[in-house]
Amino acid sequence: MNRRGLLAGCLLLGAMIVLAQAPQPVTTPQPSAPLLTVVLDAGHGGTDPGAVGPNLLKEKDLTLDLAKKIKAALSTEVSINVVLSRTDDTALTDLARVAIFNRAKPALMVSLHAGNLPGSANGFALFCERSAASAEPAQPATGDFFLWKEAQAPFLSESLKASLIFQENLIPMFTKLQPTDLPCAFLGVHQVPLAALEGAALPALVLELGSLGLPRQADLFKQESYKKEVAGAIASAIKEYFLKRAQ
Ligand SMILES: [Zn+2]
Repeated sequence: MNRRGLLAGCLLLGAMIVLAQAPQPVTTPQPSAPLLTVVLDAGHGGTDPGAVGPNLLKEKDLTLDLAKKIKAALSTEVSINVVLSRTDDTALTDLARVAIFNRAKPALMVSLHAGNLPGSANGFALFCERSAASAEPAQPATGDFFLWKEAQAPFLSESLKASLIFQENLIPMFTKLQPTDLPCAFLGVHQVPLAALEGAALPALVLELGSLGLPRQADLFKQESYKKEVAGAIASAIKEYFLKRAQ
C-alpha cells in the first residue's frame, strides 16, 4: 500500500472509530404491561358433539367458532396471549384439557358451552368452582406440586371476580341482541364443585351461553353477526378482568 492508500485507510479507520463511539440515541425503556394468557376452552369436540340444535348445529362446532372469534377480537391486544384448548374437531378428555390449561399457566381460563336448559327456557349462566373440601382455602401451590383435588382452592376468589365481570359485560349484550320474544335471561353465577376443573391450578369459569335446543336460539347461533357480538362481549370481559386484576 502506498502513502496515499495508507492515509486513506487511516482516515477510514478513524471515521469508523468515531462512528463506533458516536453517542447512541438514548431510549428510555417503556414499562410494558405483563403478558397475560387466557385459555379459551371450546366445549366438547370429536365424538362428543354436546347439544345439537334443531337446525343440526352442534355445540362442539359453535364453541370452537366462538373461541376463534374471541381470539380474533383479542388479536390487537399486545399484552394478551390467547391459547385455545383445541383448534379443530378433536375429542379431549377432562384430564387432557386440564393438562393444556396448566401447561399454558394462564391468568384465566374460560370454558364455552351452549347446552340445553329444561323445557323452553333460554338463559345464560356462569359457573365457577366452590371448594368442595372445606371453606378454608388451601395453601397456594408450591412449585409445580399441589394437591390435585384442591388445585382450584387458591383461585376461588379470582374465579368469582372474573365471573362477576363477565356478568356485567354479558347482560347488556344479550339484552341488546336478543329478540324481545326470545330473551336470554341471566341465570346467575353458580359456585359449585366442577369435576371437569379438578387439577386445574388457575382462575377458571364455565360459560353457558344459551339453549341450543330452542329452534330460534339455534338459528341465532348460526348468524355470523350474532356470534361476533357474543364473542366481542366475552373479549371485552376478558380485557376488563385483566385490567382490574392488575389493579
Ligand atoms: Zn356443553
